[in-house]
Amino acid sequence: MTSSFLSFEDKGYKDFISRLKQENEKLNAFNFIDENDKSGKIISVKDNICVKGMPATASSKILQGYIPGFNATVIERLEKAGFSVIGKTNMDEFGFGSFGLNSEHYARNPFNEEYITGGSSSGSAVATALIKGHVSIAESTGGSISAPASFCGVVGLTPTYGVISRYGLIDYASSLDKIGFMGKSVDNIREVMEKTIGGDPKDTTSLSVTISNKKPNKLYVIDNLMTGVNEVIKDRFEDLLAKLSAKGYKIEHTKIDYLEYSVPAYYIISMSEASTNLAKYQGFKYGFKVKDFSLNYNEFFMSARKQFGKEAKRRVILGTFIRSKSITQRYYEKALAIRHALIARMDKILKEGFIIMPSMPIFTPKISEVKDISPVEAYSMDMLTVPPNLCGFPHMSFPYFYEKGMPIGAQIITNHFNDYSLLDFLSEWESDFKYKFKEEIS
Ligand code: GLN
Repeated sequence: MTSSFLSFEDKGYKDFISRLKQENEKLNAFNFIDENDKSGKIISVKDNICVKGMPATASSKILQGYIPGFNATVIERLEKAGFSVIGKTNMDEFGFGSFGLNSEHYARNPFNEEYITGGSSSGSAVATALIKGHVSIAESTGGSISAPASFCGVVGLTPTYGVISRYGLIDYASSLDKIGFMGKSVDNIREVMEKTIGGDPKDTTSLSVTISNKKPNKLYVIDNLMTGVNEVIKDRFEDLLAKLSAKGYKIEHTKIDYLEYSVPAYYIISMSEASTNLAKYQGFKYGFKVKDFSLNYNEFFMSARKQFGKEAKRRVILGTFIRSKSITQRYYEKALAIRHALIARMDKILKEGFIIMPSMPIFTPKISEVKDISPVEAYSMDMLTVPPNLCGFPHMSFPYFYEKGMPIGAQIITNHFNDYSLLDFLSEWESDFKYKFKEEIS
């Protein structure tokens, strides 16, 4: 199959942009839309990935006005391959969130504006749903691609940790951050992935490896992961398994010990890393500049750091606490041990087959329903997306049913460096899904 990106030669871009801007007034998919003419296949980019000459704010006030003078490696490679960036997509501030609401002008679900989009790659999911033949370059630390892909009815691929360079990504948690892709067709996602993979001297954690596509015929369901899942979603997931079994997959049930610790382990590690990564925003070099040098030491740093939103402040405080010397053994070191144990256990299963599960444990909530839930309740919504992210396994969310007009996704996981098998899995029966996107813009 050939890819079907929307592309412009010298006509049509202005009309397209004016329609996109109209939709954007309602849905807030973009933090920035580039009105300059474009040629080539168009893509959008999450606002925490640097594109030369376009604002990069990570939806944070502290980065307002920052315009990088360089391209992230992914953008460099895609522009060389004939892609053009049309704008920067909305997100939870610095990637902190699961619903997309930690942004001053949060994005709204394209299927129904009263509902959340999922986060943190909220705007990328909306842009992908809205625009014909679109791929958005997004990022996941603990589920930020799967969650919005599921709630907005698109495909979201999070590659193996390290196979896509993180150079030019505004970091959240460096041992977990992965640049990935959202799209509506397997072929489009594959094309973008092929153009971006591979080692990069500018990112010492990036890897030059061959990505395989070994497709097993076994699908593992992790029973102790399913206990917190909504009952109706469980039923629909059973229907999906029946369909897959009819296509020749063998369904196996298993259990993974310690899985219940994956969410706390993830938040301990990610907050520790976030608190060190955010330390660079101190009013001098990066982002918001404090110009008043009559302030004392505390006042100076406080006037810079009070630009952070509530969730960012929470993570700086908790992360700094977790890293303090007297308690690091009690939390951080245990979290690392859990991470290693889970990698070993999941690796064993993934050698035999895919792991499959719903992407999110709940139906898409309304904005009003989640605005005031506690942080711990919000964190627990990541119970299904955190395990593959914590362990760096490639995974993909794809839409598979609609309840009262809203989409919901399933997530499939494979072993490190076997990313293409996920796309092959989906391409076999992509046409069965009958994606129900609202009218697309082209
Ligand atoms: N919800 C998770 C968090 O808040 C994941 C975010 C992400 O993947 N960037 O950390």
